[in-house]
Amino acid sequence: MTFEDLGLRPEILRAVSDQGYTEPTPIQAQAIPVVLQGRDIMAGAQTGTGKTAGFTLPLLHRLATHASTSTSPAKHPIRALILTPTRELAAQVEESVRTYGKYLPLKATVIYGGVNMNPQIDALRAGVDIVVATPGRLLDHVQQKSINLSKVEFLVLDEADRMLDMGFLPDLRRIMSLLPAQRQSLLFSATFAEEIKRLSDSLLRDPVLIEV
Ligand code: AMP
Repeated sequence: MTFEDLGLRPEILRAVSDQGYTEPTPIQAQAIPVVLQGRDIMAGAQTGTGKTAGFTLPLLHRLATHASTSTSPAKHPIRALILTPTRELAAQVEESVRTYGKYLPLKATVIYGGVNMNPQIDALRAGVDIVVATPGRLLDHVQQKSINLSKVEFLVLDEADRMLDMGFLPDLRRIMSLLPAQRQSLLFSATFAEEIKRLSDSLLRDPVLIEV
């Protein structure tokens, strides 16, 4: 199995090849085709399995392939939202999005707490396709009306079990309530406790289960 076999766009294959990856990891081989088909997934994957590329590569492909449905081309709606439990992970995921998307005309930004909001507000105002965020600070932006989530087509919950452990469930529910019902959602978790199953029931539509 090669990345070429997965049907990813040439700009993405080039970025992957620049990284020196020769073949997809098991989670990538399983998740990428399913995400490209537009299905929701619930994936069990630990850090170090290549899960980040597992959701980032097909997400970039779909964003680049399907034009924005926005009626206002001057305005960049946020089309993809990736939520992570910590700022370190958010920064890492955004770095991956930049790396794998470097040959695509897509813009990304990262939003997390503990730093001044103004640069984040400026970045959002300039227009981005992809936002990687921690839940609490994202809701601060919602409160301040510096972010609009009404056009989000893709939602990723990375390390969902850690988000629940950190008490983010109410924040997650609030964020979900702001997103269009018509969207593709991907949930990644190292464990499948009862709480995660309940979250996935309320979040995912007929998900494909992937365990590696
Ligand atoms: P992750 O599990 O997403 O944190 O990724 C773990 C590490 O594996 C990262 O440093 C990636 O750069 C690397 N990686 C991801 N996919 C591949 C691949 N297909 N081949 C080799 N390394 C990879």
